Amino acid sequence: MQAVGLRCIICHTMYPLDPLYECDKCHGILEVYYDFSKAKDPFALLPITSKKRISLDEGATGLLLAKNLSKRLGLKTLLLKCEFTNPTGSFKDRPVSIGISKALEFGFQKVIAASSGNGAASVAAYSACAGLEAIILVPDTTPVEKVKQTLAYGASVVRVTGPYSNCFSLAKEIGEKLNIFNLTTTFLNPYTVEGDKVVAHELFKQLNGSIPDVIYVPIGAGPLLVGIYKGFQECQQFHPFEKLPRMAGIQAEGNNPIASAFLHGKSVVCSEPNPRTIAGGIADGLVGYEKDGTYTLQIVKQSNGFVIDVADSNILEAQMWLLRDEGLFVEPSAAAGIAGLARSLKDNRIHKDDNVVVILTGHGLKDMGSVNIVGDVPLIQNNLDEFIKIFNK
Ligand SMILES: [Zn+2]
Repeated sequence: MQAVGLRCIICHTMYPLDPLYECDKCHGILEVYYDFSKAKDPFALLPITSKKRISLDEGATGLLLAKNLSKRLGLKTLLLKCEFTNPTGSFKDRPVSIGISKALEFGFQKVIAASSGNGAASVAAYSACAGLEAIILVPDTTPVEKVKQTLAYGASVVRVTGPYSNCFSLAKEIGEKLNIFNLTTTFLNPYTVEGDKVVAHELFKQLNGSIPDVIYVPIGAGPLLVGIYKGFQECQQFHPFEKLPRMAGIQAEGNNPIASAFLHGKSVVCSEPNPRTIAGGIADGLVGYEKDGTYTLQIVKQSNGFVIDVADSNILEAQMWLLRDEGLFVEPSAAAGIAGLARSLKDNRIHKDDNVVVILTGHGLKDMGSVNIVGDVPLIQNNLDEFIKIFNK
């Protein structure tokens, strides 16, 4: 455990490990703060004791060597961290496992979350396991698979008109006024990010301590990217190594607040009131919590990384590459990481000899409407000749 409190990332004011969401003094993001002198290894640095953990055995996801796709892209080593194989089909199970465990510890009976769908399913599943009531606010454009999955676990789902940011602000208000624990997986809940950083701990072990040169993460607000960087910083405290990985944040052209700030050399992120992209999982315009984007941008710069945006057409192309080259079916938001890799290779932002890891965040079955398959499925009689007529053309 060794967590000693929550600390504001801006003014460094310390707070107890309570259900808090921002700094009273400056409204800054709160982060879990650890006493490293009392810890034995980085892997134990979580704000929860393992006895009280609500887990569906998330994590320990595979790291695949993508031989065919790396050849296609002209890259020497491409590794894919398969987060879509988590219990509910996305990386969100990691932050939500910690968040739900904290909800129980704090004595809440209800939790609420704003989500574009993956966090929704995850909060619903872990709430079912913990015996908590879950209320989920989703944008009305959320894919039907994600809504059904969330309902199936027994959660109450409410669709909210407009972009994701509307769900975010309404969930925040409901949480505060009705005293319901808010598990929205941006930077709002300081405990959930701690689940994201475990991706780094796993990569460190899976690569036997060798550090990737660049890690690609599709980003909305960016807690996964920030969490992974924090995880590597912790590993460095215990097992000193020279260079931290460069963090590459990937956004969609139709919703690129952080990429736009990076590409224009700004240090403050402005929100996007009208996100337009097929990649729903990263369609977060950050309206009202632009500071989350600014923090992610700051971490990317600290890592000597970059944030770029990719077109929806490139995202769908990358989704196909993963299907046909590697046999992996991920949702568009996850494929955005591969599209960003292809783009940044072209733009010489990275070198073809770099060791690259791409985080594949969510499963393709969660958003079937986006799958870009053309062609009919033939219907034949139970007859060999009919079969040969079609396949011997
Ligand atoms: Zn502060």
